[in-house]
Amino acid sequence: MKAGFVNIFGKPNAGKSTLLNALMGEKMAIVSHKVQTTRHRIKAILNNDNYQIIFSDTPGIIEPKYKLHEKMMQAVKGSLEDADIGLLIADARESVNESHEIFTALKLKAPAILILNKSDAVRDENTIRDAKEFYEKQPYCIEVIVISALHKTGTDYLLERILHYLPEGHPFYEGDDLSDMPTKFFVGELIREKIFQLYQEELPYHSAVLVQEYKEKITLVKISADIIVQRETQKGIILGEGGNMIKKLGTLARQDIEQFLDRKVFLELFVKVRPRWRDNETHLKEYGY
Ligand code: GDP
Ligand code: MG
Repeated sequence: MKAGFVNIFGKPNAGKSTLLNALMGEKMAIVSHKVQTTRHRIKAILNNDNYQIIFSDTPGIIEPKYKLHEKMMQAVKGSLEDADIGLLIADARESVNESHEIFTALKLKAPAILILNKSDAVRDENTIRDAKEFYEKQPYCIEVIVISALHKTGTDYLLERILHYLPEGHPFYEGDDLSDMPTKFFVGELIREKIFQLYQEELPYHSAVLVQEYKEKITLVKISADIIVQRETQKGIILGEGGNMIKKLGTLARQDIEQFLDRKVFLELFVKVRPRWRDNETHLKEYGY
């Protein structure tokens, strides 16, 4: 039996969430073309008779500009310390410089596999070969694997290699729960994902989602969630002309939640104004950051 912790690192948009989803075979972490949608340390557990792998997808590496960001950075640090294996993921389309700098600065103690992702989007094979050769010389990784997380190519081989390095041990979690994060959390993340898709610029970064009610009924799941913003004007934008935007948001989120839960969902959304929630410790705790 093998068991251990595997943590995924990489610049925002490198494909961490997509890789996690590919490895898990289910939509556990959210994926968005906008950066910084993963604020939490998401743990997903891949179970089998022969192994248990506990994955975490860390937030992007960012400046601690707000208290909220500091919390995210703490999550990154926490996961650096308890990993058995690190997965350093780099976008194969980009030059190696920036990722190289970040991976060097991480000073990982655990052995790490470097993953060159998005190989499907690179036409010139020399680009991949050169990047692979470059990373193979670096002290922070033990091997380099080329994949496309989106098309799930190379991901089975990656799993084999993860298992190769994973220590022998007993499972850390019992039962076949796929995740130790409550369903409520994922529901909140799916709503947040839609906020990122529907609204412009800064607004998504100034809002939070708090799932207030989650009730399993016979025919459906009833969910109520608050969208927390900082200003009345932001509330107006979230609601839209005659409530048209929040209606759209509700529909899109409900469809995704229904797919995730595989159940019919009744979703209620409320918009609440809480000035300065980003700087307030109690609020941050309340919202789970
Ligand atoms: P994260 O910020 O590192 O978690 O990155 P995401 O997983 O959210 O992915 C960022 C974007 O890159 C999304 O639009 C993904 O669809 C895209 N992406 C991820 N993996 C691949 C891949 O293997 N090939 C291509 N072409 N796009 C990918
Ligand atoms: Mg992500």
